[in-house]
Amino acid sequence: GHSNINAKLVLLGDMGAGKSSLVLRFVKGQFLEFQESTIGAAFFSQTLAVNDATVKFEIWDTAGQERYHSLAPMYYRGAAAAIIVYDMTNAGSFARAKKWVQELQKQGNPNMVMALAGNKVDLEEKRSVSAEEARSYAEENGLFFMETSAKTATNVNDIFYEIAKRLPRA
Ligand code: GDP
Ligand code: MG
Repeated sequence: GHSNINAKLVLLGDMGAGKSSLVLRFVKGQFLEFQESTIGAAFFSQTLAVNDATVKFEIWDTAGQERYHSLAPMYYRGAAAAIIVYDMTNAGSFARAKKWVQELQKQGNPNMVMALAGNKVDLEEKRSVSAEEARSYAEENGLFFMETSAKTATNVNDIFYEIAKRLPRA
């Protein structure tokens, strides 16, 4: 049958990785070169139809700065899904993405669907994290992996769609 699913989804990752831009692209189809940094967290919702279900995503876009770290559990607690975002031109942001994955593995919902997004793939000439490295890390840790661009829209709807397909059906 057809199910209607409400799914809390949280975006985590370094400040500047492109979390807000991915959400803006997914929810409004827009991109801003000078996206303002998020203070605390921002909430959005968007509905997506997959084959057998209609999924209403309740999206928490977190700030990413260290000084807001203590707030993060409020957003990932009870979340059905998480997108951990790094900037593929910035190796430090990949290292911090791994820290988020560790934290979710320890403290998050054990059935959480987790996606790793290597964002800014439009900046291929500035790449500093290889797709192979990120993919094997994701496989070892039970995440699925996509390289995305909020700027060109590459794989943005796709990553939400893949999450929707993986959510447990009611
Ligand atoms: P957040 O701190 O993780 O929410 O990151 P933002 O969404 O605020 O993005 C930080 C900066 O990176 C902004 O200037 C964005 O315009 C830029 N940005 C975000 N996504 C992309 C992308 O896919 N490609 C490029 N070239 N720039 C991006
Ligand atoms: Mg932001």
